[in-house]
Amino acid sequence: MTTTEEMVRRDLSVLWHPCTQMKDHESWPPIPIRSGSGVWLEDFDGRRYIDAISSWWVNLLGHCQPDISAAIRDQLEQLEHVILAGFSHEPVVRLSEQLVRITPAGLSRCFYADNGSAAVEIAIKMSFHYWRNQGHPEKTRLMNLSNSYHGETLGALAAGDVALYKDTYAPLLRQPVTAPSPDAFSGEPGETAAELAARRADELDALLEEHAHEVCALILEPLVQCAGSMRMYHPLYLRRAREACDRHGVHLIADEIAVGFGRTGTLFACEQAGIRPDFLCLGKGLTGGFLPLSAVLCTEEIYAAFYDDYQNLRAFLHSHSYTGNPLACAAANATLDVLERERVIEANQERIRWMGEATRELRDHPHVADVRQTGMILAIEMVRDRSNREPYPWTERRGQQVYRHALSQGCLLRPLGDVIYFMPPYVINREEIATLARVAGEGIDLATRDRGDRRRG
Ligand code: PMP
Repeated sequence: MTTTEEMVRRDLSVLWHPCTQMKDHESWPPIPIRSGSGVWLEDFDGRRYIDAISSWWVNLLGHCQPDISAAIRDQLEQLEHVILAGFSHEPVVRLSEQLVRITPAGLSRCFYADNGSAAVEIAIKMSFHYWRNQGHPEKTRLMNLSNSYHGETLGALAAGDVALYKDTYAPLLRQPVTAPSPDAFSGEPGETAAELAARRADELDALLEEHAHEVCALILEPLVQCAGSMRMYHPLYLRRAREACDRHGVHLIADEIAVGFGRTGTLFACEQAGIRPDFLCLGKGLTGGFLPLSAVLCTEEIYAAFYDDYQNLRAFLHSHSYTGNPLACAAANATLDVLERERVIEANQERIRWMGEATRELRDHPHVADVRQTGMILAIEMVRDRSNREPYPWTERRGQQVYRHALSQGCLLRPLGDVIYFMPPYVINREEIATLARVAGEGIDLATRDRGDRRRG
């Protein structure tokens, strides 16, 4: 039987892993996984891990969920793939009908790609192109929020604002106009999330006033800036942003790639503000975490601006080889069927409560500045000094110590810097949530002991 050791040796001789300093693997090798079931992953030595982060936020209903597996198997017997230009197939038509039905009213057209970054770039290109087709070629810039994240390809990276990923490539990127994030953690002492949201919305309005003539769209992650350390904000900001975009003639692109499909407690985060964006980007959980697929939904008005005689050159000539792949669409249809049939979003309300309760004690930890939660996303911000929220120097990599401790205890809790978070599949039970909370607490205790203590320990 293949051993972990052998797998690691083969892996490290040929792979270059994503988002990784490969030298770290000299002291901490990658963990080869042989199988998955529900929230659990199992390695080649039979050790099991709770996937608390849904494998980069993609898994919704557990690993190897049987309905999704069966749907992919059935589709495999029929048609694996076909070009989507000039051709069509049932899974993509059905998925589009479903997405139009379940997303905010007024989004009526679906365009597909195979990853989130591509979806973001499609929305940006469509917005720019819409204004160009409408006689406004001067609207060439994007507006974004500080601390936002929209992907890694050059266009998507330019749309985001997380320095760790972006700064190195700055010479390759077009700069957006950046409005300050409504992140509730960044508020003044005593300021409520709603007050901060209102203040930031005023600032956004002023910035739009100044730049609307050159800006095609505002892009944002509704309610939670996930890769930006799971910072959260009040829905009021979305309502105000929608109004401001309308007032200033700027599109609103909602990037729900990470927060869509129930992560924030509602099927889509935009619902909590009662808004409809002009573009909605979906990805990750769309296929339940089985296959790569992303989608951009837009309004009929936007679609109509491209609809013309070919000779007028207004068409959106964008394509990816695997656009609307039937296997991925079958997985997505099965995922949406299970979400609806089993009333998963409603059932999650209990899990949301359990997550809050299990982490209550951590709120008083001397090195925890904030325990925040929006629906099925819960984040714990570890700091050196909670009185002034002074962070640890990033070079100390304290979050990494929590990660390592959690792995030793059978939990995959990959932090974002010093922010430990849970974003689990929707099949996690109360006991597993309690385990995550206990292990996170122990990890934070270990990682925040000062050097002298650690030598003694
Ligand atoms: N937008 C958001 C909000 C994301 O969180 C991510 C991925 N973490 C992306 C876009 C990019 O998606 P992908 O990794 O599939 O390109």
